[in-house]
Amino acid sequence: MTSPTEPQTAARVPSAVRLPVRPEHAGLEPYGAPQLDVPVLLNVNENPYAPSDEVVATIAAEVAAAARGLNRYPDRDFLDLRADLADFLAVESGVRVPAEQVWAANGSNEVMLHLLQAFGGPGRTALSFAPTYSMYPEYARDTATRWVEGRREDDFTLDADAAVATVREHAPSVILLASPNNPTGTALPPETVAAICEAALEIEVPVPGAEPGCAVVVVDEAYGEFRRAGTPSALELLDRYPNLAVSRTMSKAFALAGARLGYLAASREIVDALRVVRLPYHLSAVTQAVARAALAHSASLLAQVDALRAERDATVDWLRARRYQGRPLEVAASDANFVLFGRFDDRTAIWQGLLDRGVLVRVVGPDGWLRVSIGTPEEMTAFKDALVEVAGL
Ligand SMILES: *Cc1c(COP(=O)(O)O)cnc(C)c1O
Repeated sequence: MTSPTEPQTAARVPSAVRLPVRPEHAGLEPYGAPQLDVPVLLNVNENPYAPSDEVVATIAAEVAAAARGLNRYPDRDFLDLRADLADFLAVESGVRVPAEQVWAANGSNEVMLHLLQAFGGPGRTALSFAPTYSMYPEYARDTATRWVEGRREDDFTLDADAAVATVREHAPSVILLASPNNPTGTALPPETVAAICEAALEIEVPVPGAEPGCAVVVVDEAYGEFRRAGTPSALELLDRYPNLAVSRTMSKAFALAGARLGYLAASREIVDALRVVRLPYHLSAVTQAVARAALAHSASLLAQVDALRAERDATVDWLRARRYQGRPLEVAASDANFVLFGRFDDRTAIWQGLLDRGVLVRVVGPDGWLRVSIGTPEEMTAFKDALVEVAGL
């Protein structure tokens, strides 16, 4: 403590400071959807159902147990958690991978950042196909990786031949494919993913002092659990493509967005490259405990997924049966827990009108479209009533 009698060092306090901000970050704002306090939140694709009391009790007990060891660093390789995640994938998709082929981080956003840190970088290119998840260009920017945006078709599907041609043209080291895609909800058929993986194997990414490497294909299945019956997971392609990584998250179907746990399944070679770039102890003991407790209740946490899929299909049908200014509304086919619909001359006005009625949706995707997340039946009724009023459907 400084006593008043002690002589004070005269510090020169500058009135303004010019920081050495990286030029590609100059003037940028942090990413994020508006977090507004309104009754009906349908803007960030969360699961509307909170964990049950039983799940909460297990999480609390496991966190208490972990707390007793918080003087120590956590398990750096978290193989127990990776084994639990592998067990879950086997049940969910029928594809069994060993724990060593699973990786996890604080949200699948961090998993994908690890992929760009391991396989991107200066002089290299990351490729995706727009419209798609708005975070992808940010992973590229933050790892000084060149960003190339290919195009999806007008119905948001991906033409396999065109995609392969784009891959060959740009020779990326990382290809990011969201399936089901955000914000469109479009899932990719396995033939398309396989064609892109084949083309990626032929790419020659220079590696100074070594043989060139192929391109890595990342299929982001953040919404995988919501896919419609008959839509396979890219996990089924894992044993054929050592350059494929399939990313998942506990944020959406698992109703655990607040826990921050994302993961992927891939070849051992890919996982080993990710272990090099992760910060030591990046996954806290508390996070590991929460995730394992939740995985022990996966059936209960995923119980509402079928209801949400049915509500999604009903929302698509309802929107398709509506007319806006004399034309039927356009509604993208969705394998996710949200629906992209439009097109509105002034989508911001529609968004604001819904917000004024307590319903928050998202202004995202090509001009004229809005995205609504699937909520509870009551929330969807509030959304539909508000939309009828605002858009005069
Ligand atoms: C929501 C979302 C994620 C999940 O992010 P987390 O970091 O796991 O919460 C990943 N990819 C896409 C396309 C998403 O929409």
